[in-house]
Amino acid sequence: MAHKNQRDYYEVLGVERSASADQIKSAYRKAAMKWHPDRNPEKKHEAEENFRQASEAYSVLSDPEKRSVYDRFGHAGLTGRGFEAGGFNSSIFEEFQDIFGDFFGFDQMFGGGGRRGRGSRGQRGADLRYDMSLSFEEAAVGVSTKIHVTRHENCETCGGTGAKPGTGMMACRTCGGRGQMSYQQGFFSISRTCPACQGTGQVIREACADCRGQGRLERERVLEVGIPAGVDSGTRLRMAGQGEPGTNGGPAGDLYIFLDVKEHAFFERRGADLYCTIPVSIAQAALGAKISVPGLQGDSELDIPEGTQSGQIFRVKGKGLPNPHGGRGDLYVNIRVVIPSKLSREQRRVIEQLGQSLKVENRPVERSSSFFDKVKDIFG
Ligand SMILES: [Zn+2]
Ligand SMILES: [Zn+2]
Repeated sequence: MAHKNQRDYYEVLGVERSASADQIKSAYRKAAMKWHPDRNPEKKHEAEENFRQASEAYSVLSDPEKRSVYDRFGHAGLTGRGFEAGGFNSSIFEEFQDIFGDFFGFDQMFGGGGRRGRGSRGQRGADLRYDMSLSFEEAAVGVSTKIHVTRHENCETCGGTGAKPGTGMMACRTCGGRGQMSYQQGFFSISRTCPACQGTGQVIREACADCRGQGRLERERVLEVGIPAGVDSGTRLRMAGQGEPGTNGGPAGDLYIFLDVKEHAFFERRGADLYCTIPVSIAQAALGAKISVPGLQGDSELDIPEGTQSGQIFRVKGKGLPNPHGGRGDLYVNIRVVIPSKLSREQRRVIEQLGQSLKVENRPVERSSSFFDKVKDIFG
């Protein structure tokens, strides 16, 4: 719907030409609230005109492609590019539903643009959620598993129409097959979706016996799910099209699998890296030793040098978890020197002897940082 004296869209919304998408949105919201014809019963015509202009301005400025054409070529540019200059962007309804609700006579106001046949347009099915718990090892290497999902599916007997096979549909008597009920009120008309046919304009003649006219049935399905290696708690997997079916030919929703990964008895995990603490004897720490380090793919060996301190950290490269971006994380081993708490007479004698030859320095040392900070400092 073209208008003769067209005002600059930025001026209509009262924003700068450099305004951000958010600023434009909020300016439109303000204008729509202010000029909503329902709020201005005493100056309806003025309100309607301002409201229309603001909506038109927002339709163009909220669409990056249209906005850039408008910025360069103005109103004429939009018509020239095949954009309907006054084209009303119907997504405004969804975006500003709180303002518009479902009652406003937009079809009539905008020349039958946005909403006609809204009720019979296919609607996407709802998304479903499935919570899955995995062991640490399963999450580390990935797993293929089957899940049972209860969801609705279109009834095969009637193909989802709800009509008994062979009986077909007939025009809805309540709305005369239009799907909408219209009332004239003042200068604009109000349309409502017909409650009898939910806007489709058609009703079934005889209900399908299998689904009792619902067109859909609750089914339990077994789905094969491949969990990739390296997932963590909070990872969400999407199975496209495995949610609830759409209505009126709309696409099905998606199934989201929310993962919860159980903790491991001795591995802690940060991203693809693993951390564990391994005890060694004072003899191993003092003399150096080859120790066995557990890993998710079996044990590996780690050489600790003589004079290894409690709290010292060693890195075993590539023994962490698979990284989603390729490669593997590392395994960090925190050494804990275990001081024997019970000594035999012989052991006590040896340590006493050792004690006599060791230098003693009982002065405070600098505070030490945490396990993870230390790793960052040393290997980061
Ligand atoms: Zn059926
Ligand atoms: Zn109807």
